[in-house]
Order: sequence, then C-alpha cells, then structure tokens
Amino acid sequence: IAENAALLARLAEAEETLRAIRSGEVDALVVSGTTGDQVFTLQGADYPYRVLVEAMSEGALTLTAEGVIFYANRRFAAMIKTPLEQVIGATFTCWIVPADLALFNTLLHLENGQTRHQREVALLASDGAVIPCYLSLNALHIDGMPDCFCLVVTDLTEQKRTEAIMAAEKLARSILEQAAEAIVVCDSAMQIIRASKVAHTLCGTNPLGRPFASAFPLQLINGVAFSIAELLNAGHRPWIETWLERQGSIFNLLVSVGPLVDLQGESLGCVVTLTDITQRKANEQQIEQLAFYDPLTRLPNRRLLLDRLHQVLVSSARSGRLGALLFIDLDNFKVLNDTLGHDIGDLLLEQVAQRLIGCVRAVDTVARLGGDEFVVMLEDLSDQAEDAAAQAQIVGAKILAALGQPYHLAGHHYHRSTPSLGATLISDHETTVDDLLKRADLAMYQAKAAGRNTLRFFDPAMQAMLETRTALETDLREGLQEGQFLLYYQPQVNGDTGLIGAEALVRWRHPRRGMVSPAEFIPLAEETGLILPLGQWVLETACAQLAAWAAQPQTAHLALAVNVSARQFHHPDFVRQVQEALNQHGADPHRLKLELTESLLLDNVEDTIAKMTMLKAQGVGFSLDDFGTGYSSLSYLKRLPLDQLKIDQSFIRDILIDPNDAVIARTIVALAQSLGLAVIAEGVETAAQRDFLIAHGCRAFQGYFYGRPGPVEVLTVWGRR
Ligand code: C2E
Ligand code: MG
Ligand code: MG
Repeated sequence: IAENAALLARLAEAEETLRAIRSGEVDALVVSGTTGDQVFTLQGADYPYRVLVEAMSEGALTLTAEGVIFYANRRFAAMIKTPLEQVIGATFTCWIVPADLALFNTLLHLENGQTRHQREVALLASDGAVIPCYLSLNALHIDGMPDCFCLVVTDLTEQKRTEAIMAAEKLARSILEQAAEAIVVCDSAMQIIRASKVAHTLCGTNPLGRPFASAFPLQLINGVAFSIAELLNAGHRPWIETWLERQGSIFNLLVSVGPLVDLQGESLGCVVTLTDITQRKANEQQIEQLAFYDPLTRLPNRRLLLDRLHQVLVSSARSGRLGALLFIDLDNFKVLNDTLGHDIGDLLLEQVAQRLIGCVRAVDTVARLGGDEFVVMLEDLSDQAEDAAAQAQIVGAKILAALGQPYHLAGHHYHRSTPSLGATLISDHETTVDDLLKRADLAMYQAKAAGRNTLRFFDPAMQAMLETRTALETDLREGLQEGQFLLYYQPQVNGDTGLIGAEALVRWRHPRRGMVSPAEFIPLAEETGLILPLGQWVLETACAQLAAWAAQPQTAHLALAVNVSARQFHHPDFVRQVQEALNQHGADPHRLKLELTESLLLDNVEDTIAKMTMLKAQGVGFSLDDFGTGYSSLSYLKRLPLDQLKIDQSFIRDILIDPNDAVIARTIVALAQSLGLAVIAEGVETAAQRDFLIAHGCRAFQGYFYGRPGPVEVLTVWGRR
C-alpha cells in the first residue's frame, strides 16, 4: 500500500467504504485508476463466505451499476478462460455475445422495487467458445455505496448438451417408430442394436440382438445371397434391389446402407434401410403387361413384337443365323364372331394362342397383332436360306395341323377353324421391320387366295406386287392433294317412271396410269386410311351435285346413291361429316342414299344402328349394296333401319342361264317385299334380264343397259331420251 501513494489517497476518500469492509458488510473492493486495474482484497470477518463463494460451481461476481466487475470468483474466470486479474475491473458486457447485449443491458436497469433478474444469455470465452449461461442478478444495497449487483453465472453447456442428446434420442425413437421403411441399426459386428417398427414386421420376429444376416437373409435378383458389409465397402452404389422370403411371401426390397459414426468420426457400425417395393413392382409389371401384352391371350402385342424383331435383326446380322416370320390369320373368323358372338370368338382366340405356343420353342415369339391375326417369330434357324426356309416350313405345317384340330368352345360342341399362313425369312439385314411384316402379310394373303388353310412363302414376284402397292399408295396420297379424283354417275331407273337418280362412283384420273378403277384403289385407300379424306370428298361432291339438281325443275327429283366404306362409316365423326356435307351445300337429305355393305353393318351392330338411326332422322336413306354375297342374318336385317336392298350384279349376270341365280334374285325381291323394303337390281345389261326382273316384281334397275357410269352430262342426255 505504501508503494502506491496515489491509490492510498483514493482509498482514504473511500473511508466510509473501508468501514463497511471492516465490519464485514462488503467482501472485497476493486479500485480502478488510470494507471491500470489493481485489486485490493481486504480480508475481514467475511473469510468463510469467501471460501464458500470460491467453492461454488457457478461463477459469482459483483458489478457496479455500470457493469464493471469489482469481484469475481475463480470459477467465472475459468469459465471465460481469462486470467482473474483481467476479469476484475473489466466490464461484464465484453463477454456477452453481441446478439444478447441489449438483453443484458435491460437487466441492469431494474424497475422500481425489483431486486432480482434472471436470464439466459450466451457468453463468449476468450478462446472464442460460446457458452450458454444462466444469469441471476441481484441488487446489492450497501450503505454509503452507489447501487451495485451480485451476479451468479451458471454454465449451461453440459445441460444443453444433455438436452440435445435427449432430443436426438427422442427423434431417433420416433423415426424408428413411424418410418415407412425398415431401418436397422447394426454395431460393428453386424449385430442389430436398433430397428424400426416396420423392420420388426419385415423380420417376422424381434430382430434386436440378432446378426443382421440371419434376421434378414437378403438375396440378389439372381438368387445369390449378399452381405451388407460388401455393400458398405463398395460405397459407390447407394441402392440395391433385392428380395426376401417371409412366411411364403416374397418381398421385393430396395436396400441402402450408410456408416454409423460417432462425433469423432469413429465407426460404430451401420444403418441399413430396406424399402418394400413389392407393390410398386407389381404395378410396374402390370403397366408393362398392359403396354406390351395382349390382355386377352397374354401374348406379346405388336409393340413388343416389333421390339423383338429389331433385336433379332441385329443378333442375326451378328451371328449369321437366320430367322423367320410367320403371319397367321384365322379363316372365316368373322363368321364365328358374327354368328356366335364375341365371347365365343374370344374363347377361340385364347385356345389358338395356347396351341401356337405349343408349336414353337421357348426362344421363339408368339404375338397377337389384334383381331384374329397372330405372328410367330422363329429365331436362330440355319445360316443357309434353304435350310432355314425348310425349318420354317416344318413349324408352319405343325401350326396348320395344331390349329386345324377341333375346338371345344363353351357348350357349342366342336368348332372347326383353319388358318392361313404367310412366311418370310429374316435374312437380309438391310430390310426393315416394316418390310418384313409387309412380306409376311402379303404371303398370308396369297395363302388365302390359294384357298386358305395353307402356308405360302414370300417370293420376289410378291415383292414386285408389294412395290406396286407402295407406289400406288404414294400416288393415291398425291392424287388426293392434286385433286385427281372425279365422280361418275350411273343412272338408276324405275321401270314405270324413268330416271330416278344415279349412283355416284368415284374415278381416279391419274396423269400416267389413266383412268383407274375404284376396285383397284378403294381397298388400298381403306387399308391406309386415305378413304377418310377421299370419302369425305365424295360426300361433299355428291351433295354439291344434289344442290345443283335441286335448282333445276327437270332434275329436282333426282336422288344420289353414295358408297360408304366400312372404315369411313365406323369413324366416330361419320354422322357429323354427312350432316356437314349436306348443310354446307344446302342439299336435301331425302335425296341422299348411302350404300352400305353387309360386312360393314355386322361389324358393330349397336353402333351401326345408332348411326343409321341418327342419319335417318334427318331424312337420309340407306341401301344394302351387293346384297346376297355376304352373311346377313335375317334377324339383323329386321333390326336395321334400311330402305332398300340392292341385288348384287353377280346374280343378275346369269339370271337367265343359272337357275340358282334366278332363285336367289326372286327370293331377294320377295324378302324385300316382306320386310317392307324397296329393291333395286344392279348390273342389268340386257332387256331380257330387265324383263325377267319385272316379271318377278323388281321395279328399279341400274346397269349398262340403262347407261354406263360417266360424267354428269350423261344423265342429262338420258333424261332427254
Ligand atoms: P358397287 O357399289 O357395287 O358399284 C357398282 C359397280 O358395278 C360399279 O363399278 C359399276 O361401274 C359396275 N357396274 C354398273 N353396271 C354394270 C353392268 O351392267 N355390268 C357390269 N359388269 N358392271 C356394272 P365401279 O365403278 O368399278 O365400282 C366398283 C366398286 O367400287 C363399287 O361397287 C363400290 O363398292 C366401290 N366404289 C365406287 N365408288 C366408290 C366411292 O365413292 N366410295 C366407296 N367407298 N366405294 C366406292
Ligand atoms: Mg354401290
Ligand atoms: Mg354393288
């Protein structure tokens, strides 16, 4: 003390304070001066309290109202990792993290009468560590001294850590409880130490304490057991697909594994996640089934066949071994469908599918293209074309024999069916999949033409035909664009009253081919869908003609018969298209007659009747073309809203020579009369034919005898006759 006179002088000024110290009211006194902070601890009657304060596990401090520390125990100094000498005399706020500073300052301003404040703030130790603390601040009132505070600082670090661990533990427990996946925690010896609820279910029993491999004997898709440790070491593959058998059921699983490490990064074991994808796989399979398989026969569909055909082309090019494609079409399947119904037709198709599978090896493909069309693709035949063809021929013969056996179709006793087969070799790797299908299809048509129930191989002559067809198709498209089509009109005559109208017959004036007959291009237009724009054009042109006739008194009574093909009629928009054509030209629907064929009518009877009824309601009439050549059943005929039967020209041709034809023609006339329908004979070429028909009650005629199809002027001439 004697050494520092300046300080002594200041102490003397604080006489009153010294008195307080001596009397034990105050524990210590901090004096700060400009020469630096010095501590003077005057030990008095307070010694036992000081020992107590030093022994506390909390930090204990006394502060001035400005927050200057004038006493601190060692525990506090240790807490903030600062030498005690530097603590005393410093402002307490310099250890408070900036974010909590404002909070602390409010503590120092006690409200009136308030003596105690408690808060959680974070302190910043001198090594940068953030220490969560609990502060308890009490006002000290010492006589003769300005207000000061006693502060107890409790280090919450440990408590916070425990809380965090407990929260994490709780979280882990709830994850394991609620996780949709099976989560299994293993120690480094691969013993299960934790498992989610779903993992318990998947295991079948409690898996805890058991080795992972025995609780979950996982198999790879190829049936090889695999170990999680391997997966963990491999590291690069996060998910692996596997399966597990439990109580007779197979579970498809996705398995992932991650290391389990402690805070220091030391390995403790691993966490395995097993996701049950059994349902997802089943869905995927079902989707694939729908996309690539025919639902009725479960055979691959066209899409899958094309896929495999591509593969066979590639592998055959590599191996040099040839393949074969067989097109199979059931003969007269439509008759069965029409007479016994689609359910019975389906039964036959299912049995055909089974028999086809029985005719080929497992590597071969049997596919259903739709309807009664099947395809068999043979792979890995000989590398010599002749031998490969012979092999295909053998399979073809087997198929003919197998499909020719009687079928038992639900109560309908025995049904007989035969197929027609077209075959082509998969040998030229330059050919496209499309070409191959066309070739086999063409060969199949040759088999049909050759009397059915037989096999035909595609040959170069067919190729030429194929090319002709392709060229015709190209020309047809062009012809439509260039407006190369025109309508011819053939008179329709009533024996008593003369000209009643005409049949519109389309013609194609081709720049090179000349006038092409519809018999040549209508079937192709049907097949390619070009019949839709072509048919629409015919309808519109016919309606325009009707409107033109209606404007002239001499022709106003004329009606027009327009041929409609199956694809056109079955188009969902057909009714609307007819109405539009009529409206567009202001034609009278009562003067329009649509000629339908028998096969078209029977395709989808309900839809057909609905469409006919709608058009009929507007006044449009219907004639049944080529009558007598199809398979009409009388019961259908009665249900259809028809106006007219048109006796096919094949019966008229020999009506005077062939007694059968004469009987058929007479029967049709009688049938029409009994059904209340009109009747017209087509193909009438001679007066004798006409007279015979008149004699048997037919009044309306069409044929070369009355006039050939020609430009519309022909009719005007006829009318003047
Ligand atoms: P169809 O409807 O039965 O037409 C009658 C066919 O017989 C016409 O042949 C006609 O020229 C021919 N014909 C008429 N009178 C006689 C005769 O006294 N003797 C002989 N031998 N034949 C006669 P065309 O014009 O070649 O038409 C053939 C078929 O093409 C038509 O048969 C019809 O099914 C179809 N067709 C014609 N035009 C169209 C059309 O615009 N749309 C559709 N979808 N098909 C059409
Ligand atoms: Mg016709
Ligand atoms: Mg006809």
